[in-house]
Amino acid sequence: LAEATASVTGLVGDRAGDWDRSGLLPVELLRKLGAAGQLCTGVPTEYGGLGWDSRTSGEFTAHVGSLCSSLRSVMTSQGMAAWTVERLGDEAQRRALLPRLTSGELAAVGFSESQAGSDLSGIDTRITVDGDTVVVDGHKVWMTAAHYADLLIVFGRMGDGAAAVVVPARAPGVHVQRVADPLGCRAAGHAEVRLDSVRLPADSVLGGEGLSLPLLVTTALAYGRMSVAWGCVGILRACLAATTRHAASREQFGQPLARHQLVAKHLADLFVAEQVASRACEHASHRWDNGSPDMVVATILAKHVSAGHAARGAASAVQVMASAGAQDGHPVARAYRDAKLMEIIEGSNEMCELLLAQHALTSVE
Ligand code: FAD
Repeated sequence: LAEATASVTGLVGDRAGDWDRSGLLPVELLRKLGAAGQLCTGVPTEYGGLGWDSRTSGEFTAHVGSLCSSLRSVMTSQGMAAWTVERLGDEAQRRALLPRLTSGELAAVGFSESQAGSDLSGIDTRITVDGDTVVVDGHKVWMTAAHYADLLIVFGRMGDGAAAVVVPARAPGVHVQRVADPLGCRAAGHAEVRLDSVRLPADSVLGGEGLSLPLLVTTALAYGRMSVAWGCVGILRACLAATTRHAASREQFGQPLARHQLVAKHLADLFVAEQVASRACEHASHRWDNGSPDMVVATILAKHVSAGHAARGAASAVQVMASAGAQDGHPVARAYRDAKLMEIIEGSNEMCELLLAQHALTSVE
């Protein structure tokens, strides 16, 4: 972990602000991290991955999140793609695809459509069997990392159920168009993907047809939520570091900002936020690593707690930095925009609350 952390710190350097402003990450950097297995660190070693447990992967994700949320978002997509292959694919598919995802090829995952956001039962993408091929028709929106991806994991309807299909981004009939000017994570390569009669070998469908849509979606989202939760811990750590440095050194009214109690309150709130989010993530990772039955609810809890704290914490950080952080490209300005989106993706605040309430209701006898 220490080696990977030092290496990614060196690779990112002080360039995250420039990437945010230009809306692009260097593809060679993504391929380099991918080839080192560092974009999806949980892939087992037998499939060419690093085989890290959830806790170690989480700490690495938090570190990348503290440097650059766009890069962390690409990691989340790659990890979600790998996890989906690992969980839904058969052994031949795992052997064929996972080594590609740990050797520099990049992947994105698509559920969302214009009419299917929070309510994914509205998915209208069709995967149709035609002889020994399948044909995919649909239109996905907001696919993180799709602009960079070689492989797209696309969820759609198939027969009486649902399926996930692996689509090469350069297959005939695939049209990828970048989302213009996203609010945050601006270099994460969000794109719309249109699939017009994309014909693929039948074994592109992960694990065969006819799975339940909620099962498919829950599988992929569980990984995404864990990764976003740790990424939010990273946002909080970056905000805490920037604000404490600033508040200790800048003086107003004859003393450091940190000595003004209303500013100190912001610092205390940020510290509490970072600690609470870290503990919630550690708890959820512990559940993952033990295969505990409450792993799903622990993950939703971690995602909800971390995203909410990151959004509020980043706003406090901008408040403490004031004009010093109020410019595009500054870490806290980026954090402020990036963190807000974390309350929307992988299950919005409201969807997480509904799931947590459901859990609370079923736990009460
Ligand atoms: P809507 O579903 O229209 O919801 C609008 C508001 O209503 C939200 O606040 C929501 O919480 C609330 N709401 C909806 N239903 C209820 C309810 N029953 N009760 C209470 N409140 C409700 N999708 C992918 O497939 N792959 C990706 O990689 C991906 N990356 C993304 C990256 C970013 C930066 C963003 C912004 C989105 C991304 N998405 C991706 C899409 C994302 O999953 C959706 O935006 C999200 O699920 C919410 O859907 P929506 O935007 O259509 O909002």
